[in-house]
Amino acid sequence: MRDFVNIFLKHDIRDLQHIIRFIGCCGLACFTLLVLFGVPVVEAQDRYPVPWEKVAKETLEHFQALVRMDTSNPPGNETKPAEYLQKVLKKEGIPAELLALDPNRANLVARIRGNGWFKKPILVMGHTDVVGVQKEKWSVDPFAAVRKDGYIWGRGTLDDKDNVTAGLMLMLLLKRLGVKLERDVIFLAEAGEEGFDKEGLRYVIASHWDRIDAEFALAEGGGGVIKDGKVQYMAVATTEKVARGVRLIARGTAGHGSRPRPDNAVVRLANAVARIGAWMPTMRLNETTRVYFERLAEISPPEKAARYRALLNPKEQAEVEGYLAQNELSHNSMIRTSISPTMLKGGFRTNVIPSEAEAYLDIRALPDEDMGKFIERMKEVIGDPNVEIKSNPWRDAAPASKLDTEMFAALEKVQKRLYPGSVTLPMLLTGATDMSQLRVKGVQAYGIEPLMQEEDIRQGVGAHSDNERILEKSLHDFVRFMWYAVLEVAASK
Ligand SMILES: [Zn+2]
Repeated sequence: MRDFVNIFLKHDIRDLQHIIRFIGCCGLACFTLLVLFGVPVVEAQDRYPVPWEKVAKETLEHFQALVRMDTSNPPGNETKPAEYLQKVLKKEGIPAELLALDPNRANLVARIRGNGWFKKPILVMGHTDVVGVQKEKWSVDPFAAVRKDGYIWGRGTLDDKDNVTAGLMLMLLLKRLGVKLERDVIFLAEAGEEGFDKEGLRYVIASHWDRIDAEFALAEGGGGVIKDGKVQYMAVATTEKVARGVRLIARGTAGHGSRPRPDNAVVRLANAVARIGAWMPTMRLNETTRVYFERLAEISPPEKAARYRALLNPKEQAEVEGYLAQNELSHNSMIRTSISPTMLKGGFRTNVIPSEAEAYLDIRALPDEDMGKFIERMKEVIGDPNVEIKSNPWRDAAPASKLDTEMFAALEKVQKRLYPGSVTLPMLLTGATDMSQLRVKGVQAYGIEPLMQEEDIRQGVGAHSDNERILEKSLHDFVRFMWYAVLEVAASK
C-alpha cells in the first residue's frame, strides 16, 4: 500500500497507467481461467445479432443518396455529403462534427466511445470526393445511382462512397445495438483525396490529430475477387510504393541545326532515357510481398503457382522476373523500385540545337529504398556526367503496416468465416493512398474494398472508369465484413 501511496504522490501519470494495466492483466487472467474451465464465451458477433435485411435497405438508401451528390474534385463540394452524414448520425444520437479548412470542403468526424481503459481507437475512413466524369462515355447518368443488372452504377460507387457508406452503417449499428466497446471507434469521411488537396486528411492530421489518433485504421485500397461465383481472395493493403520522381537534365552547346554537334543535349538526353528504360533495378521482397506471393501460389493454377514460388527462390528468380516484366506489370512493379519516363522537353525551334533538354522520370520506390544510393546507381547506369539528376526534397516514407496485429488477424478471421476456402493477401499497392500519412504517424492502416467479379476487373469497370459500378450484393457483404472485423477488435470480450 505504501508503494501505491508513493506512486500517487511522487510519480507521474505513467505509473498510474501501469497500475491500470496491472488491473487489466488480472482481469485478463481471470477471463483466461474462465475460458480454460469451460465457461462458454459468446463471440461478439453472436451477442449482437443484426437484422441484415433491414440494414440492407437502409444501406442502399444512404449509398444512393451519397452517389447522387456530384462531388467531382475539383471542386469537390464535400460539405454536402458531410452535412448529410452529420444529420443521419445526429438523428441517431451520435456526435459528429465538421472540420473544414474551406467551408465548401468539410471533413466529418464522429466517434463512439468505448471504455478507453487500455486500447487506442480504430479509425474507419472513406473519402467523399470523386474523380470527374466524361458523361458522354457513360451508358447511364453517372450521378443517378441507377440499379441495373444486380449493380449500382455511378461515379464513386467503388471509389469511395462504398467505404463511406460502410463506415456510416457501422456507426449506426454500434450505437443502436449498444455494443460495449473496449476502444473508441472513429469514423472519418474525408474531403479532397483525389488529387493533391490540402483540405482533406492532410488538414485533419495537421490541425485535429487528436480527433482521429488511433491504433488501427481501415480505409480503401485492397480488394477481393469472385471467380465462377466463388471468392478467390481478399487483398488487404498493408503498404505502398512511394512516389520519388526526378528530372534528368542533359546539357550541351547550343548551335545551328545545319551543323551537327558531338555534344547535342537532345542526343545526350535520349541516350540517358534509353539506358534508364532498359535498366531493371534489383528485385527485393518484403514481409508483405513475400506472404503475398506465397499465398497467391496457393490459389493459382499450377503453371502460375510454380512461377510465384520460383520468385521466392533466389536461384530461380531471374527467369521469372523477365516474365513478369513482360506479362504481369503490377507484379513486376511490386518487387522493385520502378522507373517510367513520362515527359520529354527540349528545344524551341526546328533549326536550333538547344543547350538543354529535360525528361521526367516517374520513380515509384519500395517503402524502404535508400534513395541516395539509388540515385548513385542511376548515375552509373546513365554514365554521362553531362546529365544531371534533379529532385525536390522528399517526404518521409511510411513504414509498412504489420501482419501480426490484432486487426490483421481479425480481417483474416472474418474473411475465413464469410468466405471459406479463400485466402487473405497482404498487398503492397503500387499507387499512393492517404494511408501513408497515417502510417507515418504510427497508425497500423489496412486497405479493404468490396468484392469484384473477375470479369468486371478484366473489362475495366473499376474505380475511375467510365461505367464504374458495384455489385449490389458486394456492397451489403462489405458492410457486414466491416461490422464483423470492427466488432472483433473493438467489442468488449
Ligand atoms: Zn479512392
